[in-house]
Amino acid sequence: MENIFDYRLDQLEDYFLSINEKKFKATQIYDWLYKKQVFDFTQMTNLKKDLIIKLQETFTINSLEIIKKQTDKDTKKYLFKLADENFVESVLMYHDYGVSICVSSQVGCNMGCAFCESGRLKKVRNLKTHEMVEQILLVTQDIKERISSVVIMGIGEPFDNYDNVMNFIKIINNDKGLAIGARHITVSTCGIIPKIKMLMAEPLQINLAISLHAPNNALRSKLMKINKIYDIDNLIATLKEYIKKTNRRVTIEYVTLNGVNDSRECALELAHLLKGMNAYVNLIPYNETNNLGFKKSSKQTILEFYDTLKKQKINVTIRREFGSKIDAACGQLRSKEVDA
Ligand code: SF4
Repeated sequence: MENIFDYRLDQLEDYFLSINEKKFKATQIYDWLYKKQVFDFTQMTNLKKDLIIKLQETFTINSLEIIKKQTDKDTKKYLFKLADENFVESVLMYHDYGVSICVSSQVGCNMGCAFCESGRLKKVRNLKTHEMVEQILLVTQDIKERISSVVIMGIGEPFDNYDNVMNFIKIINNDKGLAIGARHITVSTCGIIPKIKMLMAEPLQINLAISLHAPNNALRSKLMKINKIYDIDNLIATLKEYIKKTNRRVTIEYVTLNGVNDSRECALELAHLLKGMNAYVNLIPYNETNNLGFKKSSKQTILEFYDTLKKQKINVTIRREFGSKIDAACGQLRSKEVDA
């Protein structure tokens, strides 16, 4: 059986045509699933009985289960059990401008970034489209509030699961579904260049974030194995091409690690690298974990790093610290569950 949350609207329309039904049935189903959030075909009162039976025979609906939830002032963290007993996480954050969710795209991650708890546990498999859609739906049901923005930055490298992630984005972006605006959807990659090039060709106005975390190849290769394949020079050249082609700004994620990448020299080098680019830097205070040797930079050091970038006319923000009390470093809930 297939999961109905794997289906884009156009795919569902094709399905109804293939069973000699009118294609507007797809819009009706989308309305039940995404607007009314009814996850039981028998409660879809405008469908005929024989169609309900056909749908029950063809599709499953829910497959994820929330098994743990941690709540802080402005953060909720969810641990989901998948149908095959694997685990993934989502983090919900309350901002002044609305509610955002950070979703996972893989079970584990093979990118092996040295500071990352998610990557400590290797990739088991890609998430299917419906498993990403369901993270949003289950959390929406839990908080009883609309989620207005989505970041694909949880466990996994989204571009290592490109097709399912793109399908997921098209589903949640659809007006007839969750209608999350493209400008409120961000995909974050460690820098897989061929997939950045593929994204340039997609007719989607989503945001691109790059996990850079170091301003030169020597340091970046130590922190992020991917840099040995796609180095900084090629990555920056690709981003310039992306910006030119899409006319969109790129976000540079930079997690500050005490004594590793947070010096004034690093800030100057980063400014030099990004000079003239339509990019802004998001400085992320590190969430320490027990399993990896890195420490967070002091507030003072982060502020100095910020000032140095500002003086070099680089757009920069410091990300508010979310949920450091509740294992919010991505991957911590799951690794506790797996290690246990
Ligand atoms: S930072 Fe992202 S890409 Fe790197 S290991 Fe962690 S989840 Fe994977």
